[in-house]
Amino acid sequence: KQLYAGKLILVIGLAKSGLAASKLLHKLGAKVVVNDQKPLEENVQASELHQLGIEVICGGHPMDLLDRNFDLVVKNPGIPYSNPLISGAIRKGISVVTEVEVANMISEAEMIAITGSNGKTTTTTLVYGMLKNSGRQPLIAGNIGTVACEVAETATTDHIIVTEVSSFQLMGTENFHPKVAVFLNLFDAHLDYHGTREEYGAAKAKIFANLYSDDYAIVNADDDDVMRLSANVRGEKIPFSVNKIVESGAYIFDNYVYFNNEKIIALEEIVLPGAHNLENILAAVCAAKVTGARTEKIVEVLSSFNGVKHRTQFVTTINGRKFYNDSKATNMLATKVAVSAFRQPVILIAGGLDRGNDFDELIPTLEKLKGIVVYGETAPKLALAAKKAGLTFIETVNNVNEAVNIAYEHSQSGDVILLSPACASWDQFKTFEERGDTFIESVYKLEK
Ligand code: ADP
Repeated sequence: KQLYAGKLILVIGLAKSGLAASKLLHKLGAKVVVNDQKPLEENVQASELHQLGIEVICGGHPMDLLDRNFDLVVKNPGIPYSNPLISGAIRKGISVVTEVEVANMISEAEMIAITGSNGKTTTTTLVYGMLKNSGRQPLIAGNIGTVACEVAETATTDHIIVTEVSSFQLMGTENFHPKVAVFLNLFDAHLDYHGTREEYGAAKAKIFANLYSDDYAIVNADDDDVMRLSANVRGEKIPFSVNKIVESGAYIFDNYVYFNNEKIIALEEIVLPGAHNLENILAAVCAAKVTGARTEKIVEVLSSFNGVKHRTQFVTTINGRKFYNDSKATNMLATKVAVSAFRQPVILIAGGLDRGNDFDELIPTLEKLKGIVVYGETAPKLALAAKKAGLTFIETVNNVNEAVNIAYEHSQSGDVILLSPACASWDQFKTFEERGDTFIESVYKLEK
């Protein structure tokens, strides 16, 4: 924690993580200056920092800030490296890091860090539950918990921090050193920010950069990119695979999940649907096992956990129909994954904001459906794609509530009714969370 005392530090971006980092660094004795592009009126947090005596500069990124000879820059993960202030700082040889680096540096607790294109939140939640039930003292940080800095500040050596880390966050790390580093998968995503897939992969692989030989690298043996990027890691490599038996790792054999040679749980006892979740589960089992989780507690979690809210979350069964809320699916890839998670007949509810794309890419997925109910701006385009896919049950409605009613009317016992919109929610909702909550409410209304 002495690391930052007396240092002159520039924090760029006054969102949640910037605010937390500023306050923490100030408390640790650094001289902090905060800069945000938005005007002061839009930065309500600024007054809190002013009160602490922290200088806040809003309304742009003045280049003359660089004349002040900062020792360190902490930037918001979303700010690109092409930002002149950031690239200027790097040219001057100043370290530019993200808030997770600071959190990791000051934390007395060990850390389990989880990255990948998809499945981070689900895996993080699973690991947390498995450790908690086993009597360890996990703290969840990042996206779904409190900002990592705040968690790290209070954490002691008795705790273990479980956190997801994005490629944007990892780009801004130098000495980041988790005890357990999990790399789930790599899909084409965020290429607008990272430029190339190579760069994106390299950013994620930074999760392994500082492992010692007694640390763990948990890697997806089914993902060639993950295997390539982890080929030379220090630390014990623990593979997991949905498709094949792996030595000293997690795998599926004879419809059971195994870790090493130990039988953990029968697939049919697991509540989370789909092969993609199996990937997350195997990764979670590895991470939990190497940090002291007990098998019976792992089983307890896997046989009860419904899923993270809005991510193929199981809602309820009504007269034999199972309802799932996958409101987080704001693009076609996510909907494809969700639909393929089910063996039962699926009635899909989809639609939302029109970004100008067509839905032809979704046709192979739509072909597998029993039917589709569409709503929102993209309803006509989705209906057209469904027609091309040869579906006969295609209904257009005005909103999610009507969609639930129509889907239910057309369903029979054994069907899955899935909200996985393949679109952003902003034509009718403020957030995807609100959309998912509306879905859940509509489902429960059916019961009455
Ligand atoms: P993240 O935190 O990385 O965004 P989540 O756990 O929140 O991931 O899952 C978001 C969505 O991504 C899920 O609803 C599902 O559609 C998809 N998904 C989750 N795990 C995987 C996986 N292992 N492989 C592919 N897709 C996945």
